[in-house]
Amino acid sequence: MREPFIYKGTIPRIVFGVGTISQLSDELLNLGRRRALVLSTPFQEREAKELAERLGSLCVGVFSGAVMHTPVEVTLEALRVFSDRGADSVISFGGGSTIGLGKAIAYRNDTDQIVVATTYAGSEVTPILGQTESGIKTTVRDLSVLPETVIYDPELTYTLPTNMTVTSGLNAIAHAVEGLYAQDRNPVSSMMSIEGIAALYRALPAIVSDPENPAARSDALYGSWLCGVVLGTVGMALHHKMCHTLGGSFDLPHAETHAILLPHTVAYTEAAVPHLLEPIAALMGADRAAAGLFDFARSIDAPCKLQDLGVTGQDLDKATDIALQNPYWNPRPLEALAIREMLQMAWEGARPGTC
Ligand code: NAD
Repeated sequence: MREPFIYKGTIPRIVFGVGTISQLSDELLNLGRRRALVLSTPFQEREAKELAERLGSLCVGVFSGAVMHTPVEVTLEALRVFSDRGADSVISFGGGSTIGLGKAIAYRNDTDQIVVATTYAGSEVTPILGQTESGIKTTVRDLSVLPETVIYDPELTYTLPTNMTVTSGLNAIAHAVEGLYAQDRNPVSSMMSIEGIAALYRALPAIVSDPENPAARSDALYGSWLCGVVLGTVGMALHHKMCHTLGGSFDLPHAETHAILLPHTVAYTEAAVPHLLEPIAALMGADRAAAGLFDFARSIDAPCKLQDLGVTGQDLDKATDIALQNPYWNPRPLEALAIREMLQMAWEGARPGTC
């Protein structure tokens, strides 16, 4: 018999496919907007300016100051530019950092957002905004930050370096993995999780061998969309909480932290719910999902040791304490000793068994 569930969908309009960037002006006009401010990181400024040129009179400028973790001072600076130029919308061109800035602007002035997604982080389809003030990262979940439209053009991901492709893809897989055992999971979110993981499992090795493989880039972006929707619609648990708290406390890079911790947090949780993670084990031909994820990550040269991110052996006790602060739900309750052992394995880059 099926377990009872509630299904509630909140997905932006999705425009997917090779060449869909050419539909950007029409998408803006569909929203009734004609004065967009294009956002990017400094690294993608050149492409953002090219996009602005193509938009012509529909664009009032480019703000290229987006950085990781959405610091409030950057948001306030962007809001000044938004208002000085008389903008009526934002176009976020990039990954989670740029999308975070667009969301932070929308949170404050409810502007319309179009996202042109160029990584696999998935933020573009979630109503979640993480922002940092005085070094403290807080998260809000509010429908006002959910973008109106997302354009996924696989050609724009060809330039994403292979190492970032791998870690960003594993970041996406992490959303779907936690979706499989989420308390509020439902048949649609679980279906999306499995389909999203399978697409990325096919795509990432092919991209590592050929970064401009059109079919693989397309599959990866499709998979990341599905995984992002899972993140936006059901609750996350131990893995996301650990990445969030450790990332903030030790200033760790977002996608790499996800990539390293995933097999270990899964090993921890799988002990309680092996049946819910069985589809991943089956997909990866492993006896357990954790082992399958670890071997997969190694096969695509993902980083695998916390120590390589600058975390020291002495930091692990503090990291355990941080992970246990403000307790939260996980299918397997949080036990200090087992969490400490799990972090040790992740620090050493050891292949996980189940704790
Ligand atoms: P990112 O946006 O920081 O991008 C990393 C770097 O890659 C940047 O310099 C960027 O300009 C560059 N880049 C992006 N796409 C490129 C491409 N196609 N070609 C070449 N360079 C490219 O990285 P990210 O992992 O996408 O985002 C991380 C941030 O997103 C974190 O702050 C994280 O907390 C946040 N995030 C939020 C959510 C959410 O739902 N709120 C979800 C996932 C991630």
